[in-house]
Amino acid sequence: MLGPMGRVAHTVRTGLSVPWSRSIGTGEVMTNWKKCCSTHNQIKMKTKQNTIIFTIGIPLFVNCRNLVKGVVLTLKSFALITLLYSCGEDKKEVKELSADTPVDVSAKGKTIMAVFAHPDDEIYVGPIMAKYAREGAKVQVVTVTDGRYGTGQTDLKPGDELTALRNEELNCAARHMGLLKPIWMGYHDQLKLKDGFFGHVPYIQEIMRKLDSLVTDIDPDVIVTWGPDGGSNHMDHRIVGASVTQVYLSKKQEKNVHLFYVATPSSHLEDEDEKLLRGVSDDYLTTEISYTEEDRENTILALQCYKTQYSEDSMKHTADRLRSGDQKVYLRPVLKAGTKTNTLFKVD
Ligand SMILES: [Zn+2]
Repeated sequence: MLGPMGRVAHTVRTGLSVPWSRSIGTGEVMTNWKKCCSTHNQIKMKTKQNTIIFTIGIPLFVNCRNLVKGVVLTLKSFALITLLYSCGEDKKEVKELSADTPVDVSAKGKTIMAVFAHPDDEIYVGPIMAKYAREGAKVQVVTVTDGRYGTGQTDLKPGDELTALRNEELNCAARHMGLLKPIWMGYHDQLKLKDGFFGHVPYIQEIMRKLDSLVTDIDPDVIVTWGPDGGSNHMDHRIVGASVTQVYLSKKQEKNVHLFYVATPSSHLEDEDEKLLRGVSDDYLTTEISYTEEDRENTILALQCYKTQYSEDSMKHTADRLRSGDQKVYLRPVLKAGTKTNTLFKVD
């Protein structure tokens, strides 16, 4: 652990808010200091997770008048002395950065790709999408089907007039939650299952190729979709989730992209058959994300865009459920690339 002077130097040098007990070894900083700081003002460190750039801001004033130069030199000397002091003090505690090193968990600059089957499915994760968008993430919803069979509250026949309305509703919902304009893939609702094996299978394969190119274009840090339960056990949800998963698994993990399934904890369901068909045991839902009342209310406003799908009563019922719930969304992180093993009976 860094001593008091080390902490001062650390703060001066980095401004990072990592816990002190996990601070980066000062010996490593010194090595990089020698490599870099004599020529420019940055210490660049490559870690397993990311690259951290330490900026020494003081020398930026070096071209000013002599008086300023004097002050700058004094400050530089002070920074160097504190740096040397901290190195001497902590020599025995220099540690390599490891997988335990805290990663940057802030939403700022991150990209979330949320892939769902129908316009309005995204409401299920709405509060946390609104939260992360509010915190500075780019949130890109991708809606695979056009929802043409979701006649819901309308007198419309399945078809283009309804899909146009549903597209508008999706854009309206995204605006209320502060998300990017959703990507409307426009594939047929029910994924051409009526056309049998030779209609459905090539259709899904085309969707998977398109999803693959969207993942390349969007370059997400996180992908969220449906798991095998499909949220409601809906066939389209389950097929979309499986397709996204296959696209994810087919790629080498050059960037640390995390895939999550959103799900309903079994403990939230009373009916045993419902638990079987669409519940996920709480043991697997290891990612619980809380959100604020503001995020929840923005999601309720988003829900109200879906006039073709919800009656006033069902909107009110959903809003009441959101307001009386525990203000959390539950997810399951899916398969991480890991170390290899040669037995079925031990998994890391
Ligand atoms: Zn749906």
